[in-house]
Amino acid sequence: MSQRHFATIAARAGIAQDTAHDAVTPPMYLTTTYRLKALGQAGAYDYSRSNNPTRDLLAEALAELEGGAKAIVTNTGMSACLLALQLLTPADTLVIPHDCYGGSYRLFTNLAERKHSFKLVIVNFQQKDWVSQIEAAQPAMIWLETPSNPLLQITDIRAVCQLAKKLTARVVVDNTFLSPVLQQPLALGADIVVHSTTKYINGHSDVVAGALICADQAVGDELKWWANCLGITGAAFDAYMTLRGLRTLLPRMQQHQTNAERIVAFLQQQPLVSNVYYPGLVDHPGHAIAKAQQQGFGAMLSFDLAVDPVFLQDFLDALQCFTLAQSLGGIESLICHPGSMTHASMDASAQATAGIGPTLLRLSVGIEAIDDLLADLAHGFAVLESASRAGRPQSAPATNQASAKASGPSASGAIDSKQGFSQSLPLNPALTALW
Ligand SMILES: *Cc1c(COP(=O)(O)O)cnc(C)c1O
Repeated sequence: MSQRHFATIAARAGIAQDTAHDAVTPPMYLTTTYRLKALGQAGAYDYSRSNNPTRDLLAEALAELEGGAKAIVTNTGMSACLLALQLLTPADTLVIPHDCYGGSYRLFTNLAERKHSFKLVIVNFQQKDWVSQIEAAQPAMIWLETPSNPLLQITDIRAVCQLAKKLTARVVVDNTFLSPVLQQPLALGADIVVHSTTKYINGHSDVVAGALICADQAVGDELKWWANCLGITGAAFDAYMTLRGLRTLLPRMQQHQTNAERIVAFLQQQPLVSNVYYPGLVDHPGHAIAKAQQQGFGAMLSFDLAVDPVFLQDFLDALQCFTLAQSLGGIESLICHPGSMTHASMDASAQATAGIGPTLLRLSVGIEAIDDLLADLAHGFAVLESASRAGRPQSAPATNQASAKASGPSASGAIDSKQGFSQSLPLNPALTALW
């Protein structure tokens, strides 16, 4: 059969393949073990850590969606990342982007520093000399995450893969932020894709799970062996739920993105918004590359509020359609304050270097009616405006870092500006567990 379209692969994931009873929707095999017909006569399945029919259906659909030879479904997104690292030895160098997902950053730095699992080089791919930095590192593996979190910076996957071929390095792309609907890294030359399927692929904020997809069958076989060996394969129930979510991936992504575009246009009109970060904007530094390598600009966006951080809570309290929570990619809209939530393990100066300001907010735009989302934000800005004009936060000053970090003398005088982000960080940032 000629290559099927995304909507078809996703909608028909696992459908009409039941060999036992011809069920249209496949059953969930919760069994841990499988009967042998006789000694020496094991069937296709023996024990569910190694192989499970429900998990296999999900793996097949994900491999087809990403255009890979083999997919391995893991119990979390982090274990999918850990799995890719099994290809490295202590003599190898791993290059990672300076702004990768915090949990991945913690994994890479701790494995390198405390376990000597590999050598680590951290590169800022937004700097002009990234090529020479990578050539100097002579890596065995290059890790990419594009768009990045929370500023949606874009890395040129094709260019990195071309360089990697010359250096015989493997390229791994964390494709969580876009899903295969909006970006297919293997087609751009990458060797491995990893996903936190917790996000868009499941899409309903009710499963934590992951997946790794390989372009090469032999590498996939080796990593499947490791997944079983380490015991990090996904649960049957999670695979069943994720298959259910996956079937609507395409229409969800379309609605997420249409809503995000309208919100970006709205935010740009807001006097209290000083910056909007979204790769779909023509003046976004990564716009041209995003346009060339993505099938859409996605539904994650960030913006800075041009107000004193003491007023953040007023804005957040006024919103009803944006829930204050980390994570992303679910059908519901979420709002996050990276400075005190996803990126709180970075101290104030590290945040400043990374461009994460005290009033930066990140949205995971859901699939609610756009008019409701826009009305909600409009209400939030109206409340914010009157609070900041009165010079006094309406909410009691919260004790969290969001309101503790004032950029200058606070108009209300109620906030001790010395109480910065770093005060809550007695630990090495890499060890501070947030998730
Ligand atoms: C959430 C996330 C992960 C980790 O996934 P879990 O499912 O939470 O273990 C990795 N990478 C990115 C980009 C993520 O957003």
